[in-house]
Amino acid sequence: MLTAEHVKRVAREAGADVVAIGSTDRFEGAPTQMDPRFMLPSARSVVAMAFRHPRGCFRGIEEGTFFTAYSAMGYSSINYIYQPHVLHRVGRLIEDEGYDVLPIPNNFPWNNINVAGWTTPEETARPNPARSRPASPGKPAPDAFIQIRLACFAAGLGEIGYSKIFLTREFGPRQRLAVLLTDAELEPDPLVEPGSICDRCKACARACSGGCFPADRMVRVTVAGRQLEWCDLDMHRCSTYFCGGAPASNPFAVTAEDRTEFGKDVGTAQQHKLKPLYGYSRALEGASGCIRACMMHLEETGRIQSRFNERFRRKPAWRMNLDQA
Ligand code: SF4
Ligand code: SF4
Repeated sequence: MLTAEHVKRVAREAGADVVAIGSTDRFEGAPTQMDPRFMLPSARSVVAMAFRHPRGCFRGIEEGTFFTAYSAMGYSSINYIYQPHVLHRVGRLIEDEGYDVLPIPNNFPWNNINVAGWTTPEETARPNPARSRPASPGKPAPDAFIQIRLACFAAGLGEIGYSKIFLTREFGPRQRLAVLLTDAELEPDPLVEPGSICDRCKACARACSGGCFPADRMVRVTVAGRQLEWCDLDMHRCSTYFCGGAPASNPFAVTAEDRTEFGKDVGTAQQHKLKPLYGYSRALEGASGCIRACMMHLEETGRIQSRFNERFRRKPAWRMNLDQA
């Protein structure tokens, strides 16, 4: 007989770092467009998985000496290689017991962006009539959309921090997420109560190179009977700054032209200047606030379980001398 414990053990053995399971009735009241029960209508359970970023992938960015590891090994390889591999292994186990599975890695284009670009949460929850329309009355328009962070909260994997980044008790902000829907009914885990990891220290906002955290705007939603809230980040601004939009945080912005190009929408400078060397090279800034500052705070205050022999920041953070540019 298939049990939650067996599914979690196989997922961990296959390479997931943290696994939790929730029941789909925790999505009661979700907007139709974001309800996973329209993606796999028989779904009874959501299996949520966290895949850690090795902390050392941030070390070169922290030192200002080696920038490609986070984009490559902390980011795209998790989305495009490890997650599909683990989801496939777990899916085979469940399917062999006669249940349907729908694996959802963090590389589906509709995860956090739609065809019109970055959207507000309200816009994300609404169909886009210029793109598609429901196949028949009572259905959402394709594509229905599962918000992976909310699904992982509903599964009991962790909570959403003030930074909007998902936090686990094991790694804080240092992971990427995937989910698998199935019609197998598996024993659900308890929720991680909001506020049990994030203490609203706002180190994330203070260290963000793009100033993407407005002081006066929050997003509030109710999931599984819990009120969740996080800062209403300027995601369009983040999409430029996490790719090196701030010259003081980007040693590759050498000329005035470079600075202009890195300050444009994501992709321009990376395509021309870095791609021939780095391939996938977007995340130059190394999430200075929402991952690195948060991780340091949670490690140093003992609010998460991950432990290292040496603290992450061992000298003052570097900044480029823009007078010498
Ligand atoms: S840095 Fe502080 S406020 Fe920001 S998400 Fe982490 S714990 Fe929460
Ligand atoms: S990725 Fe960087 S720019 Fe974006 S919110 Fe996080 S710290 Fe700010």
